[in-house]
Amino acid sequence: MRILLVIVVLFVSEIVFSQSNVLTKEDTLIGSNTSYRAWWDVKTYMLSVKPDFETKTIVGINIIGYKVVADSLPFVLQLDLQEPMQMDSVYLDGASFSNFKKEKNRWLLTLPKQEKKSVHYISTFFSGKPKVAKNPPWDGGWVWKKDSLGNPWMSVACQGAGASVWVPCKDIQSDEPESCTLNITVPDSLVGIGNGKLIKKYKTLAQNNFTTYEWEVTNPINSYDIIPYIGKYTLLHDSVQGENGKLITDYWVLNYHVAKAKSHLKPNVIKTLKCLEHWFGHYPFYEDSYKIVEAPYLGMEHQSNVAYGNSYLNGYAGMDRSKTGWGLKWDFIVVHETAHEWFGNSVTAKDVADNWIHEGFASYAEALFTECEFGKEAGNDYCAGVKKFIDNDIPLIGQYGVKKEGSGDIYNKGSQVIHMIRQLVDDDEKFRLLLRDVSKHFYHKIISTQEFEEYLILKTGKDLKPFFNQYLRTTQIPRLEYKLTKKNLQFRYVELHRWI
Ligand SMILES: [Zn+2]
Repeated sequence: MRILLVIVVLFVSEIVFSQSNVLTKEDTLIGSNTSYRAWWDVKTYMLSVKPDFETKTIVGINIIGYKVVADSLPFVLQLDLQEPMQMDSVYLDGASFSNFKKEKNRWLLTLPKQEKKSVHYISTFFSGKPKVAKNPPWDGGWVWKKDSLGNPWMSVACQGAGASVWVPCKDIQSDEPESCTLNITVPDSLVGIGNGKLIKKYKTLAQNNFTTYEWEVTNPINSYDIIPYIGKYTLLHDSVQGENGKLITDYWVLNYHVAKAKSHLKPNVIKTLKCLEHWFGHYPFYEDSYKIVEAPYLGMEHQSNVAYGNSYLNGYAGMDRSKTGWGLKWDFIVVHETAHEWFGNSVTAKDVADNWIHEGFASYAEALFTECEFGKEAGNDYCAGVKKFIDNDIPLIGQYGVKKEGSGDIYNKGSQVIHMIRQLVDDDEKFRLLLRDVSKHFYHKIISTQEFEEYLILKTGKDLKPFFNQYLRTTQIPRLEYKLTKKNLQFRYVELHRWI
């Protein structure tokens, strides 16, 4: 019997998925670096907010410092602030300013001519009843809850909705302020927690029975990461010795969860930071400290202010997504959200269409953490276990310039993409050094998929272009074709690469 075995490996590299969504001018104004945005570079936000739990309203000020980076005529500056929030008054460099108009969810300020390289400050006074998050963190907005003892518990989750759901800002991922302060004014019985380090807390005469907490971030930060948490919190202060020396690791938890934080959260955080520093290089925000804050929703990667709502349980809300057993041996939210400090917060995608970089690495960190704790085979098992969630519905890269992410596959398929790069490198130590290189090369930078690809091709010396095209820009996976024929009792094996 002769059997002819023909194996055809199909790489589909040129088919680019087109989405049929009808896009509007509104989508472009939200998602593009338009002429209302490109000429000015955000340098800082000095933000103050005071929420009122009873009326579910907030009042605040955001002083936006920016630098003129291009000549622009006319000098129209777009600030984003979503309805029903209102901008009450505006000051330009300290003087009252009224030459602005509202267009739905944005405010267009027509400014006098400003010299290139000059720095200016726009103070925006805002107020209103911000959109309430229906299902935080996925459907975002303000969160008004009570803890189990009936105390007010408030926060915001706005990765999808954008920070402009509550505060006037330049709501696009490609421009981050290089520093930020957040003043949170709360009733004396509560605590206000923000990003970075607590600079001071103080009372003013005009705010009887209220205390203001002033927080400061000294590194670039995504606007959706700038988040206040307000509740009856207690601080569990700690530090670890990391790759860059002493790293403050603070745990802000509801006051009746201190014991659980000590027994569950602390060991998970210590192991996570150690493992991720090993694979990704040093934690990217030593100056601002590491902080994890109990949140009234599952979790979010708020920079140096990680939201934690996983009920002090291992797994993902107590479940093992991988169904391998490994996922129940550690706290998913601690690992995944902490990993975003490297990928998402330090290395940030220019356009949300490239958010697979954030989620692919954070999801792969789950496998790496499993490997750190239980060995390489366990990590591989976990990685294989979550593969079943891949839908291949639309590509990982979304639509540029219109604030459209790619498929939900940016998590699990994104993770597999990183894992496949590891197989192509075929040397674990080289792969680890590659990840550390990526994290160092793009440290505190805003990048595109293309820049990421080019860097990986350079560092690996491999032509990864067809690989990236296949897995990031199409939904097709390589297909194995074979044909069996019988002739003279011989086997023949033919391998054929077919490119479409
Ligand atoms: Zn994530």
